[in-house]
Amino acid sequence: MTAGQRWAAELARAMRRRGWSNVRLAREAGMSAPSISAYRTARQMPTLTRAAILSDVLMWPDLLERRVAMATRDCAACGRSFIDAGTKGNGRFCDSACRWTNRTRLARGKRDTMRQVTTRRLHLFEERVAAMCADYTLGDGVCRTEECPLRAVSPLRFVRMSAA
Ligand SMILES: [Zn+2]
Repeated sequence: MTAGQRWAAELARAMRRRGWSNVRLAREAGMSAPSISAYRTARQMPTLTRAAILSDVLMWPDLLERRVAMATRDCAACGRSFIDAGTKGNGRFCDSACRWTNRTRLARGKRDTMRQVTTRRLHLFEERVAAMCADYTLGDGVCRTEECPLRAVSPLRFVRMSAA
């Protein structure tokens, strides 16, 4: 049984104890009967606010306590335990500062990766230039072509061709 199913069972128990139908509870809580039905059958979890209202009108504190326990999680950035009041219940951070901290960390990771890729490409480029220059020399590791477009990046020493 999941926590959600246990919560729904607790709601059903509270309603039985009070002798209230979905319609009656809906009226007391200011919600729709289909909503109550969905909560009761664990098809949907009420928000914290709604759980508090249901807990209140049914005089069943356990409904709120269990719902709060389900919404309590550890912040993905600082590790502190917090109550996720979001309707989707998928909040990962205790506050906006922690959300920002995480975003900055992700951005930094991405920047580091980009730098590694750039460095790798630069090395590759240097290797290609060296290989090309080696191909066009007489095997003595000396460049003699001043107008070569690779001159600026060539690793080879340049020696002007003698007029002889
Ligand atoms: Zn945090």
